[in-house]
Amino acid sequence: MKTQALLALLAASICSVAAVPSPQDAANRKAGLRLIKTSPKGAPKWISEEEKIVQYAAHEIGFVDITDITDSQVLRALSADEDEDVFQARAVTYPTAVSKQAQANPLINLVSTTQPQSWMTTLTNYHNRYYRATYGTQAGTWLYNTLVSLVAVNPAITVTRFTHSFNQPSIIVKIPGNSTDLVIVSAHYDSTAGSTTARAPGADDNASGVVVLMEALRVLANNKFKGKDTLEFHFYGGEEGGLLGSAAVFANYKSTGKTVLAVVNQDMAGYSPSGKISIYTDYVDSALTAYVRVVATAYTGTTTADKCGYGCSDHASARSNGFPAAYVCDEVMKTATPYIHTANDALSTIMWPAILRHTKFTVAFLVEASYL
Ligand SMILES: [Zn+2]
Repeated sequence: MKTQALLALLAASICSVAAVPSPQDAANRKAGLRLIKTSPKGAPKWISEEEKIVQYAAHEIGFVDITDITDSQVLRALSADEDEDVFQARAVTYPTAVSKQAQANPLINLVSTTQPQSWMTTLTNYHNRYYRATYGTQAGTWLYNTLVSLVAVNPAITVTRFTHSFNQPSIIVKIPGNSTDLVIVSAHYDSTAGSTTARAPGADDNASGVVVLMEALRVLANNKFKGKDTLEFHFYGGEEGGLLGSAAVFANYKSTGKTVLAVVNQDMAGYSPSGKISIYTDYVDSALTAYVRVVATAYTGTTTADKCGYGCSDHASARSNGFPAAYVCDEVMKTATPYIHTANDALSTIMWPAILRHTKFTVAFLVEASYL
């Protein structure tokens, strides 16, 4: 009954999204306006690129830029409520306990904040990493080159640029396993703070998630880690523009029929007064989220939970393309960094124990989940 009611609702809501484009839509598109959604059921709205940043991102209003999304299943999923199961069939049953401590713990012991401090200094020194600015492109070039040298120790690992309609690419690092099934960890590397030209160091949002993934990758690469499943590290461009990079990547994964067992997104991993990893529960896959909590608790201690709303980060793109996604954050909303999307989201505000905690979780999750 519930499912049928939801399907009816979805069928109704999809009509407003996927209707035949009107002449006005074509004119808006031609004028460079973008179509955004700020809630599952609300009508989408045409706004300018500047308005996205000034009126939405700067005020912490989550949104998804659906201008270039043509897949009706994805549009339907983007109209699904936060607790709806948007999957037709789940690819995997997740374990209820961890089992790879003997392999994970020696790797976790190698995690440090030395390189993350250096990487974050570089990332936050860009005037901003806005995805349509030259700085954003420069940050992408630095990230790509740094990842290439980081994995040079293991020739099996590949680093690929995933290019977009905007200049800043997403970057994908792959550690091949015995199977092509994918376990993905992700973080966006663009930043913004109030306008498209403003200073935006983006330390916690989201240089923190980027350096966490880089340090986990450093440890796994140096130790020639290879699991059953293939591991991917995704660094997205254009998240602050409405989840643009991740939407394009997962649209590609959907259309090419990739099997994705898990996507764990980290957006803000370096500011945590509570000292506890927070695992968010809205617009995610509940079964994967439960498994992520099992792993995080086993390896980092007590966790917290919260909700962050519609379009709050790139896990939403994975979910809308039908892949199981979870979101791991550094703190609950109430006590999260007060500096988000301002010039004050600076390196000096980073709490390094949080970076260390998230990196340990990431290594643990990749080792555990590589046997899904
Ligand atoms: Zn972010």
